Amino acid sequence: VHGGAGPDSERIRSNQNGYKEGINAALDEGYKILEAGGSAIDAVERAVRTLENNPLFNAGKGSVKNKKGNIEMCAGVMDGEKLTNGAIALLSNVKNPSQVARAVMDKLPDTLLSSDGAIEFARSINAEFAPDNYFEVQHEEHSHGTVGAVACDANGNVAACTSTGGIEEGNPGRIADSAIAGAGVYANNNTCAVSATGEGEGIIKHSLSFHLHALVEFNNMPVNEAAAYLIYQKLKSEEHDLGLIAINKEGTIAMAFNSERMHRGWKTSDNEFGIKIYAD
Ligand code: ASP
Repeated sequence: VHGGAGPDSERIRSNQNGYKEGINAALDEGYKILEAGGSAIDAVERAVRTLENNPLFNAGKGSVKNKKGNIEMCAGVMDGEKLTNGAIALLSNVKNPSQVARAVMDKLPDTLLSSDGAIEFARSINAEFAPDNYFEVQHEEHSHGTVGAVACDANGNVAACTSTGGIEEGNPGRIADSAIAGAGVYANNNTCAVSATGEGEGIIKHSLSFHLHALVEFNNMPVNEAAAYLIYQKLKSEEHDLGLIAINKEGTIAMAFNSERMHRGWKTSDNEFGIKIYAD
């Protein structure tokens, strides 16, 4: 799971335990599902929901405000077995945008719903709504704390989910990469599941998640080598903050970021476990 890539700040430095506890709770919730034989898609949705409910992260409850003082959330999910995806953009007052994105995937012929239509659809699936003050959390300017999860289940299926409140002081109507398959989220059993974070403009421009998938598929690179090559070599001169987490159907995990920090954690059935914020 990740809790966003971006610049370091006093707020993060002084509250590292809070962030780590949030990441740990999301790992536990997602892992519980996998351990009980559940699907990767259910695990990533649950992990992301846990982070959306945590005010420290810029998604769901902790979403930042745009220039007009409004919250417009974006989220996307993708199932690596079926190659189906669902996403919502510019959603307001819904506690768990990831749930609505998942419902778009499961219930509609569409893949991306936005603004009023997304809100109407959220109502139709009885998604939980909350008043503006539920979301009112103080953030520093330009904080990034988008959340995401990737998982591989006991059947070797992979899935990814990403959810964001966007960029602080963003233009109203700006759509984040998190909602765009191939940019902020992508999953394919043949290669990997990816969740990206950082500055959406850089992530969209480089089709970051699909880019990683393509390196694995067409260059036959192992997912962790491909992730490192993509972020540290191929896109070395990119000025936007970029970060990603990925997993393949063997359970190999990859994480790479060019920013000062990326909150992240991992847990495997081989007892590998870790939570980190900075490079080491
Ligand atoms: N990617 C998100 C966006 O552009 C922000 C982030 O990952 O922190 O909205």
